[in-house]
Amino acid sequence: MCAAISASENGAKVIVLEKSPEQEKGGNTTYTHGSIRFAYNDQNDIKEIIPDMEEEDFRITDFGSYTEEQFYDDLCIMTDYKTDPTLASILTGESFETMKWLVKHNIRFIPIYGRQAFKIDGIFKFWGGMVLESVGGGAGLVDALHLEAARLGATILYETMAVELLHNDDGIYGVVIKEKGKTKRILTNSVVLASGGFHANVEMRTKYLGQKWDIVHTRGSRYNTGEGIQMALNIGALSAGNWSTAHSVTGDRYLPDFEEGFQRLSYPFGIMVNADGKRFVDEGADFRNYTYAKYGRIILQQPNNCAWQIFDAKVAPLLREEYKGKKVTKVKADTLEELADKIGEIHKENFLQEIKSYNESIDQSTPFNPNIKDGRQTRGLNVPKTNWANTIDTAPFEAYAVTCGITFTFGGLKINERAEVQSIQYKKINGLYAAGEVVGGLFYSNYPGGAGLMAGSVFGKIAGENAAKHVVQTTIVK
Ligand SMILES: Cc1cc2nc3c(=O)[nH]c(=O)nc-3n(C[C@H](O)[C@H](O)[C@H](O)COP(=O)(O)OP(=O)(O)OC[C@H]3O[C@@H](n4cnc5c(N)ncnc54)[C@H](O)[C@@H]3O)c2cc1C
Repeated sequence: MCAAISASENGAKVIVLEKSPEQEKGGNTTYTHGSIRFAYNDQNDIKEIIPDMEEEDFRITDFGSYTEEQFYDDLCIMTDYKTDPTLASILTGESFETMKWLVKHNIRFIPIYGRQAFKIDGIFKFWGGMVLESVGGGAGLVDALHLEAARLGATILYETMAVELLHNDDGIYGVVIKEKGKTKRILTNSVVLASGGFHANVEMRTKYLGQKWDIVHTRGSRYNTGEGIQMALNIGALSAGNWSTAHSVTGDRYLPDFEEGFQRLSYPFGIMVNADGKRFVDEGADFRNYTYAKYGRIILQQPNNCAWQIFDAKVAPLLREEYKGKKVTKVKADTLEELADKIGEIHKENFLQEIKSYNESIDQSTPFNPNIKDGRQTRGLNVPKTNWANTIDTAPFEAYAVTCGITFTFGGLKINERAEVQSIQYKKINGLYAAGEVVGGLFYSNYPGGAGLMAGSVFGKIAGENAAKHVVQTTIVK
């Protein structure tokens, strides 16, 4: 939709093909909280993005800063320095300008209190480089983008999917579509692919991500089945990025696919144990939004593809909203022995010993503080916990059954700085642009929360602008 808005404001007549019915429009974007990561220097930058925020709210909020360099470094560190440096510097360098552009196009944002900042001594202090979310979450963002695209004259065709790119020696000359079951052609020499990745395609998942990825919980939109990527590959587009891993999180073990409320992301304040009763990951390695996208994969490697998150009464008030409600698989008990019995599937002796060793290993001299990486850690364990290590000793105890859920895929198409899709001969494919999950090269193995929406916005804006310029300058040759 960013591409549609950008192309419209640059003089193109735009048709958006949306495979889903109108009530399911917006793909994965709809399923987000609308949390978006961008670089900013200080509170004045935030004021530019949320001009209607009250002075009093600014007074009790410490947004800190998150510079372009920090955003870039986060991308490098989290991807083990594999992120495409050209794309990464555009994403980080254009993020603030793109936020201002979104605001200009009537997209509204608010601070992410609660999930990204806890109130301590009267002040909300933000952490993790992500401070704002769209009003109305992902659904609100999608509605606002659709309204704006329509206001600028774009036509949106629902239940209409792209099935094939029309292509000759001069480049793209159109697209074959299926509109409500009827095959048609649209002739155009500019196409922007923004159809998401292949997380909802079981066959592609198993083919590229490997064993067990067919049985993971599937999050988000059921319409992101990869054909945007596939139809570009069919005409000689170059693949890029990390096809063998994906964004995958820890979430409810029994929730059906595509249902909202899957994730369970308060693990930094507790521990995770597998069916052998053993911890297997440093739950406090970093802030949640720097570890959550890779821990799903690690749970998939555990016996029976599952684990349990354990909390005691001391940290229960800190648990995120998703831990409440009827669709939550949890057991509660007054003793750890009883908790193990209620879990049932766990090796009880190992579990009790694991918690004993964990409790004894914690350096209690460092105070617990959820707003910073507090360094309250374990000593001498094979699997350390680096921050937020609290003893598990205060009843009632809670255990949440979790498994791996795939959010979106990282592998996709190679684009250049103009969002032009590259060919296997390392030249641009004339008239073909791509943005969002369909693009590969930014994320490898891990991902900083909020970077997905920003990537879609930054490259959508660039793709739309260049697609419009191309369509204005060229004539269609069939
Ligand atoms: C549950 C969940 C929570 C998330 N939370 C966040 C978050 O808070 N912040 C963040 O930054 N990222 C988040 N993400 C990731 C984020 O959703 C994506 O990175 C981003 O929305 C991708 O945007 P996109 O435009 O590339 O794809 P999408 O938003 O998925 O849009 C793809 C569109 O293409 C359509 N489509 C697919 N195939 C075709 C076809 N053949 N023809 C026509 N149309 C087609 C789909 O129906 C859909 O409308 C989350 C993802 C999920 C699933």
